[in-house]
Amino acid sequence: MSSETPGWIARLRTSLGRTREAIASRLDELLQAPPDDAFFAGLEEALIQADVGPSLGAEIAERLRQDATARTPAAARGALAAILRGMLGAPGVLRLTPPPAVVLVLGVNGSGKTTTIGKLAYRLRQEGRQVLLAAADTFRAAAIEQLELWGERAGAPVVRHRAGSDPAAVVFDAARAASARGFDVLIADTAGRLHTKVNLMEELKKIDRVLSRALPASPLERVLVLDAGTGQNGLAQARRFHEAVGLTGVVLAKLDGTAKGGIAVAVTQDLGVPITFVGTGEGLDDLVPFDPEVFVTALLAP
Ligand code: GDP
Repeated sequence: MSSETPGWIARLRTSLGRTREAIASRLDELLQAPPDDAFFAGLEEALIQADVGPSLGAEIAERLRQDATARTPAAARGALAAILRGMLGAPGVLRLTPPPAVVLVLGVNGSGKTTTIGKLAYRLRQEGRQVLLAAADTFRAAAIEQLELWGERAGAPVVRHRAGSDPAAVVFDAARAASARGFDVLIADTAGRLHTKVNLMEELKKIDRVLSRALPASPLERVLVLDAGTGQNGLAQARRFHEAVGLTGVVLAKLDGTAKGGIAVAVTQDLGVPITFVGTGEGLDDLVPFDPEVFVTALLAP
């Protein structure tokens, strides 16, 4: 586990409150006696309600049913925790060396992208890093202004062009500035419109290529911000972004507002991409590292 103070653990726990209610309280009801058929059916239903997804929900219940050691309520709870931890894999980490590291942030409009960039910039600044932002969502003037606002709060300058300009040119300039001015991390915002004629995925691929070429020695993280409440539909979106650029991490935003936190399991299983951070609110400080161990403990805590 990380060496940070338990403050983030408390925030992760609190943000999982609604999902925990959906799963843990159901488990408590079901686990008054050794697991039986009603338990496995009820567990599957609770997992699906929490947005783990139908096939994974069935798979988890079946694995537990097959587990000969999980015959008492306590053993079943422990075995379920182990299955979920296994599915969630290792905590995601951002590669930040050698500088300037690049974090390309993707996601559909409204997913929490700009807010997440602000929080991430703040977090990296708190760690003593110099952070530059690139306003490459040039599609909406408001997006540029919103990013500048978050940049001010976080203490990170923003490279911007006019609204409507080529986003690849923005990231190119930002990459040069990051290198020339000795920044540690460059975080690039991108557009998230899915329903226009301009092909978003092609645009994102181009941005990705420009960044790779401009800073060939830098790590390039491709992070998708996913609204935890969008469930299986969000998962379908995630697949499209993954196909386009090859995601290296997922930030699960707005976990605090949903009972559907089981999407974390679906995301890691379906995409094979780790979750790096979780959004726990709208404040600067509301971005906490994702730790499968803490997540599962909080999820199943009686
Ligand atoms: P974008 O269009 O993807 O850039 O989305 P925004 O960053 O503008 O966020 C959309 C809305 O979600 C805003 O009202 C944010 O305050 C809110 N939001 C973002 N992240 C979180 C979070 O982790 N928790 C909560 N409760 N709200 C969030």
